[in-house]
Amino acid sequence: MRTTDPGLARLSLQIADCTACPRLVAAREAVAGPGYWARPVPGFGDPDARIHVLGLATAPHGGNRHGRAFTGNRSADTLVAALHRAGLANQPSSRHARDGLHLHRAWMASAVRCPPPEHRPTRAERDACLAWLTAEVAALRELRVIVCLGRTAWEAACDWAGAHPRPRFGHGAEHRTDGGLLLLGCYHPSPQNTHSGRLTPAMLDDVLLRARDRAGLDPLDTDLEESA
Ligand code: SF4
Repeated sequence: MRTTDPGLARLSLQIADCTACPRLVAAREAVAGPGYWARPVPGFGDPDARIHVLGLATAPHGGNRHGRAFTGNRSADTLVAALHRAGLANQPSSRHARDGLHLHRAWMASAVRCPPPEHRPTRAERDACLAWLTAEVAALRELRVIVCLGRTAWEAACDWAGAHPRPRFGHGAEHRTDGGLLLLGCYHPSPQNTHSGRLTPAMLDDVLLRARDRAGLDPLDTDLEESA
């Protein structure tokens, strides 16, 4: 099931026009090649999402190139293949913005929508961009679970949710926010983690299936048939 949502569409346009962080505005343009999006990357997915997949920051040659979250690099393919296995995506790859990918009951975005140098935003940049997470979460009215990819995304989500003391990150760690959302920790699907065996496909599947369960999704509520 998908719906069009004018509010989310307007919000995406606002995010794409953001220039709040001068250092990151310069960074996103400095790394851009011909045809790059080189603007902030809004969230992508199903307006009826119950599961939000949150990364730390836009990849310089992934989202920053294609203008879509988790698109065009190996981390994106690993993540979307797992979303597909979990019935949350219609296809197992995420190559470019017109590749036909759509998500089912899921949304994905980064806490920091522009690519920071060395993938390290300052605290002020991260906190400024979390305002967009607040706006998107408010617009995703069925949201129940945020899967946080990696320690820094987990810390961003915990700080955003006002969790003090900050709960310890781990693969499979859980924290219920005061607002009733469940934060669920997951190792980042980076090539470094997948090649070393720190994160296996089975471990990723376990987290996403747990997210489905915690989000109250019926096992039959999937999009797998649309990829045939
Ligand atoms: S990182 Fe976020 S707040 Fe900063 S310029 Fe980009 S979209 Fe705006």
